Amino acid sequence: MEFEVVIGLEVHVQLNTKSKMFCSCPTSFGDEPNKNTCPVCLGLPGALPTPNKEALKKAVMFGKAVGSEINRKSIFDRKNYFYPDLPSGYQISQMPIPIVGLGKLNIDYEDGTSREIGVTRAHLEVDAGKNIHGDGHSKVDLNRAGTPLLEIVSEPDMRSSDEAVLYLKKLHSIVKYLGISDANMQEGSFRCDANVSIRPKGDEKLYTRVELKNINSFKFVQKAIETEIERQTEAWEDGEYDDVIYQETRLYDSAKNETRSMRGKEEAADYRYFPDPDLLEMVVDEDMEKETDNIPELPDEKKERYIKDFKVTAYDASVITMEIETANFFEDLMSKGVSGKNAVTWMTVELQGRLNKEGLAYENSPVSAEKLAELVVRIEDGTISAKAGKEVLDYLMENEVSVDESIDKLGLKQVSDDGAIFAIIDEVIAANPDNVERYKGGQEKLFGFFVGQVMKASKGSANPAKVNQLLKERLK
Ligand code: ADP
Ligand code: MG
Ligand code: ZN
Repeated sequence: MEFEVVIGLEVHVQLNTKSKMFCSCPTSFGDEPNKNTCPVCLGLPGALPTPNKEALKKAVMFGKAVGSEINRKSIFDRKNYFYPDLPSGYQISQMPIPIVGLGKLNIDYEDGTSREIGVTRAHLEVDAGKNIHGDGHSKVDLNRAGTPLLEIVSEPDMRSSDEAVLYLKKLHSIVKYLGISDANMQEGSFRCDANVSIRPKGDEKLYTRVELKNINSFKFVQKAIETEIERQTEAWEDGEYDDVIYQETRLYDSAKNETRSMRGKEEAADYRYFPDPDLLEMVVDEDMEKETDNIPELPDEKKERYIKDFKVTAYDASVITMEIETANFFEDLMSKGVSGKNAVTWMTVELQGRLNKEGLAYENSPVSAEKLAELVVRIEDGTISAKAGKEVLDYLMENEVSVDESIDKLGLKQVSDDGAIFAIIDEVIAANPDNVERYKGGQEKLFGFFVGQVMKASKGSANPAKVNQLLKERLK
């Protein structure tokens, strides 16, 4: 039987506000345990929460970026459960009326086409603290308790692990463009849960979903989902689907590349959600509307602009716009007026390849965008060949010199001067009278031989376009 994969993602984005969601404690990372706490985030009885306006603003910006309906009035609810890192015994979240309603985002395929994925909702909530186990003791650090999270829930619209990764990368990209989060997956400021089910192809109904947690890199998202699809498919094929696949939360173990059961999945009813009586409805007023109207240029808009203004392919444009740092580098490169096509090649193939080898990124590249642009200019104006350009780039990676200095130093300047090239051509012609005879007698294939001889005699420094042109003239 042929199966179809159904995936929906829940992403927790830690908003980069200075203070926590409902108190003025700092959100800074790595401080002495329990230093950044107060009666509110410690969950002491009687302490009253005050919503953080910046967090609200960031949530609204996100909603606008994905074309969502913004709920002008949203409600905070208590989600009740017990865990040592949650001293109040409930998490403040949003259930029936989230700040951000239905929206969508585009995922981009390699062939340049795109597809829309639904964003069901996004709501504000607070993070819990951390339990730390070891030395025969378990300790609780509440520094993180109460930091604002935006939980972004997708529709079950993805049909493969590839699509899940594309969605996640796009979401990551949008969040970074907006500057509302550090969105660091390893440090946990951008966390993803993947819901996975399979169904016979053609079936419209949704089958039992399994929720995968603990996936902290794009690579693991892909692997965790693949592993789970395999488990479900095998169960179906072995006739065991109804016995072993049930709604549950499973943990992905990247070391063993397997998922294992963590707990049965709670239903919403288990949490006894109810509106938090300590909080009023949260209102998006006129001022907030205005403040969030000027969101920065987003990846899709940038992509369209690059295709139109710089004549790069749709796929190249989506690769370059994926990360804001890459897009910024590209724009600096383009400000020197080089061709889009050359800029893409020199940046994403030549420079990127070298950066990868050194474990570097565009932000800390030893060759700045301005310098790379100068190099491309020198190739475009014929000062050096593309081949020599690669040598220059190698040299620039290691040495802090200008492009022109390194061209001089490496002796790579192309000879484009007519007189100098004619002199070499004349030598080559004088040394090969037989071939000149034959060429003039109709063996036009010999032209390549002459080009080769001239290039060789110039030790590769002659401008090939010039050599072609002048040779044709001499051999007429
Ligand atoms: P919960 O908090 O209980 O996990 P949410 O509504 O927050 O519930 O998230 C449910 C997620 O699971 C959504 O991303 C949704 O698209 C996805 N989902 C729902 N049903 C299925 C299914 N049958 N297969 C795969 N994903 C699903
Ligand atoms: Mg879930
Ligand atoms: Zn506090």
